[in-house]
Amino acid sequence: MPFFFMKYLLRVTLLCLFIFILMNACKPSSPKADLLIQNANIYTVSESQPKAEAVAIIGDTIAFVGSNQEAAAWADDHTQLLDLQGKTMTPGWIEGHAHFMGIGENKMNLDLLQVRSYEEMVRQVAEAVRKMKPGEWIVGRGWHQDKWDSLPDPMVKGFPTHQGLSAVAPQNPVYLSHASGHAALANAKAMEMAGIRNISPEAPAPASVEGGEIVKDPLGNPTGIFNENAMALIRSHIPEQSDERNEQVAQLAMQECLENGITSLHDAGESEDIIALYKKLAANGQLKTRLYVMLSSQDTSLLESYFNNGPEIGLHHHFLTIRSIKLYADGALGSRGAWLLNEYADMPGEYGDETTPVERIFEVTLKALQSGLQVCTHAIGDRANREVLDQYEKAFQQVPDRAENTRFRIEHAQHLSAQDIPRFAQLGVIPAMQAIHMSSDRPWAIDRLGQARIEEGAYVWRKLLDSGAIVVNGTDAPVEPINPIASFYASVTRKTLQGTPEGGYEASQKMTREEALRSYTLFPAFSAFEEEIKGTIAPGKLADFTVFSQDLMQVPEAQLLNTRVDLTIVGGKIVYERKP
Ligand SMILES: [Zn+2]
Repeated sequence: MPFFFMKYLLRVTLLCLFIFILMNACKPSSPKADLLIQNANIYTVSESQPKAEAVAIIGDTIAFVGSNQEAAAWADDHTQLLDLQGKTMTPGWIEGHAHFMGIGENKMNLDLLQVRSYEEMVRQVAEAVRKMKPGEWIVGRGWHQDKWDSLPDPMVKGFPTHQGLSAVAPQNPVYLSHASGHAALANAKAMEMAGIRNISPEAPAPASVEGGEIVKDPLGNPTGIFNENAMALIRSHIPEQSDERNEQVAQLAMQECLENGITSLHDAGESEDIIALYKKLAANGQLKTRLYVMLSSQDTSLLESYFNNGPEIGLHHHFLTIRSIKLYADGALGSRGAWLLNEYADMPGEYGDETTPVERIFEVTLKALQSGLQVCTHAIGDRANREVLDQYEKAFQQVPDRAENTRFRIEHAQHLSAQDIPRFAQLGVIPAMQAIHMSSDRPWAIDRLGQARIEEGAYVWRKLLDSGAIVVNGTDAPVEPINPIASFYASVTRKTLQGTPEGGYEASQKMTREEALRSYTLFPAFSAFEEEIKGTIAPGKLADFTVFSQDLMQVPEAQLLNTRVDLTIVGGKIVYERKP
């Protein structure tokens, strides 16, 4: 375990001990529990008391953890009793990197995650057209050509083209985001509304976009694919979302989190409007999942206001914290936007994209350090990861008195050069990885990177843990479904969800189940400066728990994916209960 983390663990242990002594000192007039959870198979994730049977809760806080017998003393007539009949309970699971509004949007829009061909995607759009008026936008997300059983003709630069969509939706603009979120396919109507046309004597070829690409066919006509910064050319024409609709989207996202046992979520980049909505929901007690929000760095005025005023921590009983900034150093591996040190194995001469100039990353990092904000930078390729580590290091050197305990993060940290792996622990930088990405992407990632680079540094959570780093887990929902069991399974098996290959990919990189549990509880709590209130089941911490249908720490590997979330408890309240 890394030294800097040990220090915090020690602090937490002392704090808990202090609270414990304080509570015992208050007896016999000791307060009684509002909720008493009994007969549970509890994994506390606390080193001093790893297993327990019962938890007593007062208000939204844990008052006691121990045996059924000891816990009984905490009950009186007003105590609500919850008998878990041997079910497994852990600290509430924390999704370490997802897009909260995106999760809700996915429920509102066409969900293309399961689509198996271009034709199927066109059929879904044709169906949506029938329910809409001419001119209304059809928005979808989640398609991925590498997951299709067959590819359409033509394909340009590895992507499908707009013609099929344009044929079924001549009067409706269509915008379908790639699963990676780093590319989108638009139809002719959408391109027309954005002023992007086929070339003709009157209309010259569409201009190029810095940090992005309008993909064109050999004749120079746009194919409908827009990469990275070019996506905004189309997206900016989709009508603004109303407050009312946004609230509906947030409610859908919340429901999805709670059904999946997610009690807290790290929201990877939101705008000023959305943050205002979260504040309103939290103030009205309508937020049921705790949110740790990263500010979208695209919104410079939003950043400036937080640089001036500092973070907002633990608002409304710890339901909302805004103390970090999301930056993007590169794109995604699937669309060859990940920024690599050496060229792509399957596209010579291609190195990917630097989506934010490194000077800008440095500038934001420095200001964040000076104003007490955390920085979380998206970096997928080995070049992007190195550049971000370099910029963080440079900023730490510039303001050494602020360089302790920064807990700056790199989001994804998917592909690393061997020499950069130990730098995470050395600099105290936290990799926030999504094990499910390995499961979904590893089958084709080898084409992009080749065997040697895959083994050296792709999805190497074991090497990072061994070097002393803390690894935060998650799903990047809605890029992947938010189901944490799937990511837990990927962490410990290194297999696809179909259970292949035998023994797992790069099997030496597996996490143990204990590590995987920490990567969903204590480690994300630490990465949000919240290990004193979340991440383990101990007196003094928030009463957030996830209850599972079976013992996910013990069942045979082949049964892991059958684990269901039976109960989700946030702040001592049951906020989700699975129907039998
Ligand atoms: Zn993300």
